[in-house]
Amino acid sequence: MPMMLDSDLKSMPKIELHAHLSGSISRRCLHEIWRGKKAAGKTDLEDPLVVMPLEEPVVDINSFFPLFSSYIYRLVDDVESLHYSTSSVIEDFANDGVVYLELRTTPRSFPKGGLDRKGYVDAVLTAIDEAQQKYPSIQVRLILSIDRRNTLDEANEVVALATHFSSRGVVAVDLCGDPAKGDVSLFTPAFEAAKAQGLKITIHFAEAACSASETELQTILGWKPDRLGHVIHVPEHIRKQIAAVRPGIGLELCLSCNVQLKMITGDFDAHHFGEWWRVDGPVVVPCTDDVGVFDSPVSNEWKLIQRYFHLERDDVLSLARKGVDVIFGGDAQKTRLREIMW
Ligand SMILES: [Zn+2]
Repeated sequence: MPMMLDSDLKSMPKIELHAHLSGSISRRCLHEIWRGKKAAGKTDLEDPLVVMPLEEPVVDINSFFPLFSSYIYRLVDDVESLHYSTSSVIEDFANDGVVYLELRTTPRSFPKGGLDRKGYVDAVLTAIDEAQQKYPSIQVRLILSIDRRNTLDEANEVVALATHFSSRGVVAVDLCGDPAKGDVSLFTPAFEAAKAQGLKITIHFAEAACSASETELQTILGWKPDRLGHVIHVPEHIRKQIAAVRPGIGLELCLSCNVQLKMITGDFDAHHFGEWWRVDGPVVVPCTDDVGVFDSPVSNEWKLIQRYFHLERDDVLSLARKGVDVIFGGDAQKTRLREIMW
């Protein structure tokens, strides 16, 4: 049985379910935004090509999160750059053969630009609408993220925004951010409210050893999440619990991110994708997390999977198709994807 060529993996219709908007902005796009602002005297930041050189990948989770707070969020700080970068991200995914994309973002406010969090989500959705017209091969839905450093009031605001904008393509609420921060039990009422509003839930789960205590993992599983992201530091009994109690749950696995940031021990062949992809029940979906940082588009994630776990052509196609079951875009999107991907 033949393996798929790189060009086949790129042209294969793909779905991407775990992509952070800010982390998916390419260096080229950041550089263009920077160049425009620099020329207009609107930024003192250094050139992103100097701050994040491609030849020196981010290799440390301790420098990864500050990259956003100290650089990307400061560069993309007005409606114009938010719109431009959102459109560029969607164009990049479309060019990589992604036909269905769920982007996620933490609502921010831009005090200088007079934009509050609601205005931020509105601006992202407007950019998504326009990009979908421009790149008709891709359909995009939005997930709003609660940051682990948020207060309960802030988390409730995210749920309220997700509910408000659900008719415009917001489909779910996520919990993300620095795994060293926060006590997740604080957010239980917010995720219960999200469920009650008919929103889906996806959670960054056991991303680091510090966010993988029995209490934290059981608290999160108690929210009945529809999908989990990363799923790294998971003890055997919880692995069994996930497979038994939440059959059909989606697992968003991000190989390049986990290996480059040394979130797992070892190389790609040691990644827990190898344990999960054959397990009955959970649906494994290879995702990029932050393609702008890790420079590995989803077609390359499939290439890595094929190379390190020896999937054959039929394995790749059937795994890619299974992912359709765990999208949050509803039955119409599932039907559309089944027409494209089968
Ligand atoms: Zn993530």
